[in-house]
Amino acid sequence: LSVILPLFSMLSYGCSEQATHPEPGSDDGRLLVGFSMATFKEDRWLQDRERFAAKAQQAGFDVIVTNANQDSELQYKQVADLVQKGIDVLVFVPQDYATAYECTNLAKKAGIPVISYDRLVAKGNVDAYISFDNVKVGKLQGEALSKAVPEGGYIILNGSPDDHNSEMFHKGYLEALQSSIDSGKINIVAETWVQNWTREKAFSFVSDVLKKYPDKVDAILAGNDSLAWGAIDALSEARLAKKVTVVGHDADLAACQRIVDGTQLMTVYKPIKSLVEKTAEVCKLLAEGKKPDTDQTINDGAYNVPYIMIDCIPVTRENIDETVIKDGFHLKEDVYRTF
Ligand code: BGC
Repeated sequence: LSVILPLFSMLSYGCSEQATHPEPGSDDGRLLVGFSMATFKEDRWLQDRERFAAKAQQAGFDVIVTNANQDSELQYKQVADLVQKGIDVLVFVPQDYATAYECTNLAKKAGIPVISYDRLVAKGNVDAYISFDNVKVGKLQGEALSKAVPEGGYIILNGSPDDHNSEMFHKGYLEALQSSIDSGKINIVAETWVQNWTREKAFSFVSDVLKKYPDKVDAILAGNDSLAWGAIDALSEARLAKKVTVVGHDADLAACQRIVDGTQLMTVYKPIKSLVEKTAEVCKLLAEGKKPDTDQTINDGAYNVPYIMIDCIPVTRENIDETVIKDGFHLKEDVYRTF
């Protein structure tokens, strides 16, 4: 279930175990980091995995990556295994916000510092939460959509209810939309929370709403680009693609292609490179017994934990070249590929 990297061992992710670290957790001087991931389903997590492995190699430490495949019990077993292997730091992306503290407690009890990566852990009292400005992500989405469709019927597809980020995004887009909702300019035709961010669920929800209210939907706010994809497939089937305005976030390759094609208005680019660099830096600090340098905190339901917040950028057809492409997140020939 886990693989120890440096880069050359990356091909065998997820199924077998390949030890390239001489003796995990031993005093050979190299830092051993456990990177417990919740899923590889969305494009972005593959970037997180690959960029973190590359960064780690550059920084001279080893990484064991595990993928819980959206199963919180499996994630618990994987973390127990990482702790047993003697990791020096745990970098953790929780599958389930509410119960994930059981995993982080395993590490903490063994004296291993924990970084909550991208997603927060409820009551986890982690040593650092390193993520984007997730409220801003939602706000940028809401602003772009309400600018394009200031009046009309909206569908809102929130993210997974067990992911704290979903709430942060929701808070952000309400900041942008609430006054228009209150004044009746924007009417929420339907809203849902999509378990595990599943594209197929977004597709069937939007299909059902379109059948029920065929002329009432003008805009769709999708919690991420997977949900936007499902929504746009439903619109295409109803011959409404490009007529109904859709926003998402993550700057997934397929979303960037849809933006160029015109079926999706915008996405939000979260520079994974910066997230990874910050995390590698904080891994070293924590392993040396130091604290991360930030004044910001976030309340995890019980504790105020240090929050290292990374900025994000709205992306439309107008600025796609100067953002995701210029930054090397995607190649120009891939984004502009015609099918
Ligand atoms: C992340 C998103 C991602 C979603 C589904 C969220 O916690 O912030 O970038 O699309 O999970 O994996």
